[in-house]
Order: sequence, then structure tokens, then C-alpha cells
Amino acid sequence: MIRNEEIKQLAPIFGIDAIGITSAEDLIDARRLRVAYRGFPSYHPRSFLKKARSVIVGIENYYARGRPLRPEEGEIARYTWSNYYYDLRTRLKELARFLKRAYQMRFRVFSNGPLAEKPLAVKAGIGYYGKHTIIINEKFGSWIVIGEILTDLEIEPDQPEENDCGDCRICIDACPTRAIEKPYQLNWKRCIQYLSNHRVEIPLEIRRVWGNRLYGCTTCQEVCPKNSRSRPTHSIPEYGYVGPGFSLYEVLMLDEERYRRRFGSNQIGARWMELACLKRNAILALVNRGEKSALNHIIRFEDDPDPMLKEIARWAVEELQRWI
Ligand code: SF4
Ligand code: SF4
Repeated sequence: MIRNEEIKQLAPIFGIDAIGITSAEDLIDARRLRVAYRGFPSYHPRSFLKKARSVIVGIENYYARGRPLRPEEGEIARYTWSNYYYDLRTRLKELARFLKRAYQMRFRVFSNGPLAEKPLAVKAGIGYYGKHTIIINEKFGSWIVIGEILTDLEIEPDQPEENDCGDCRICIDACPTRAIEKPYQLNWKRCIQYLSNHRVEIPLEIRRVWGNRLYGCTTCQEVCPKNSRSRPTHSIPEYGYVGPGFSLYEVLMLDEERYRRRFGSNQIGARWMELACLKRNAILALVNRGEKSALNHIIRFEDDPDPMLKEIARWAVEELQRWI
């Protein structure tokens, strides 16, 4: 069995902020903690590498100081300013190739992939679930993306992380939609993070507290005391860079081709969302800003062939006309 320190000491060489190791056994207890953000993650690492024995879990701290928003821009959630998943995956692949040369191992690498990353991170001692259901690392807080190297090497595992939030409930009280219904229990149907990248009906009371969000929501992370000492450890990756904001008016004018060109290497355009959802979010943000000058831009969606855009545009026009 390989000592886990032998692997962990390589983290800074590959620009990985921390590494934890766990076994590749099925995640028997993980279902209890599952957060239904994206489909159904797998709890069976060996279904991706038959003879897997260990999972090397790595994290990248994506905290960065971004430029200020321009007045015409809606906010993009911090973890989407660039494609951090791609960046971490690249670093983990480099580490895996290095280990392969040293140990002849077989491997698969994922980040934001099919494996249940959060329970793996807990089991590998990387962090614990905050009450907002996001993983918190003692050093970097919750501003982390998680990735894994699945390997047939047998590596000494770390102890699971057993910390928790204690009596704090700041994120629960700060959530604008009351999506954190109780500690560690998120109602994703009320969570702007989920709603903003899915084709779903947005309840009226959530439309009214949407704010200036173009993509995602990080309010529960912004208020968390565990993030108060966050510091950047990397420059923002160039691949997939979109930055902290984007013009709401420009979004309304994008066609598919320009959308894929502008957002295609970022996780927004690469995998996650339809252009129509981004346009819907832009309309919600413009209404929340009470931007009467947006009326002319929104009216043209009132007869859009897409029923979601048609519905949101008709609602938005009514809302904005009240301000005139
Ligand atoms: S991401 Fe936003 S909406 Fe979702 S739980 Fe956090 S604060 Fe609430
Ligand atoms: S705000 Fe408090 S309760 Fe919420 S995740 Fe942070 S420490 Fe935990």
C-alpha cells in the first residue's frame, strides 16, 4: 500500500490546492446526503474503472477578485467566471500521468463528472457539508471545485472529515428564496442556482427576489463566515473565461452561433444551459432592476415561438409597464 503522504506532497507541484485519499468502495451512506442539483451522480466508482481501489480527491480554490460590474451587466456566479472544472481536470490528469509513469497504474479523471463528488470529498477528509449543502474546506471555505482520479493503486486512505457548522444558521436566513428548508436540506425547486440553468417555471415570489443575477447564485456562500478569510491562490484560468458579469442587453441579442462562440468553452455554454434560459434570466434581472428602457428589448419576445420566453416576456412587460 502506498503511503498517502507520497501522493499528497505532489499537490503543490501540480497546482492542486489540496488532496485527500479514499477507497473506491461504493458510497453506501452517501444517498442520505445527496443533493439533487444535477441528475443522479454515481455512488459506484468501480462502474467507471472496474479494478479501482482508491480515489484521489483534489480541489481547486476558485476565489478570485473580479473586476467591478458594468452598469449594463448581470451577475455571473463566481464559480462560473471561468471553467475551473476544466482547469482542475487538466491538473489532475497531469498528476495522474506522472503517477502512471511511477506506478504503472490505470486511471480515470473527473471533475463535475458522473461521480458523487461531495460525499467522496467528505470521505477523503477534504471537507464537510455546510448547512447550505456545499462542501466546506477548512482552509479555502466553500469556494472550491472538486475533482477525482480513480485509480487501481492501493493508497492509504485519509480519515473522513467530521467537522460541522455548529450553531450557525447565517446562510439559512440569508437565502432570498428560503431554499434551505432546514440545515443540510436544500429544496432545489426554490434554489436560484438550480432554477437559473434549467427550463422550469420560476414561481412568482422567486421572480421578485431574483435580483441582478444572470447566471447562478452564491448568496449563501458570500455570507458564510467560513469564507471570510478566502484568498486567491491562482490567477483566473483563461480557458472558458467569461468574468463576473455580462451585458443583459447583449444576451437578449445573442443567437446560437454567437452564444456558443462566447460561452462555449465555459461550463454555461459547453454543457449546462440553453440560450433561452440565459435570455429568461436576463429578462428577470432587467425587471428586478426596474429597467424601463428594457421594454423595447423584451417586447419582441412576447410572441416568441419558445413558450418559456413568450410567457416570461409577457409577464415582464406587464411588470415594467407598472413603473411607467
Ligand atoms: S444558491 Fe442562492 S437560492 Fe440557492 S440556497 Fe444558496 S442563497 Fe439560496
Ligand atoms: S453560513 Fe454558517 S451554517 Fe451556513 S454553511 Fe456557513 S458556517 Fe455553515
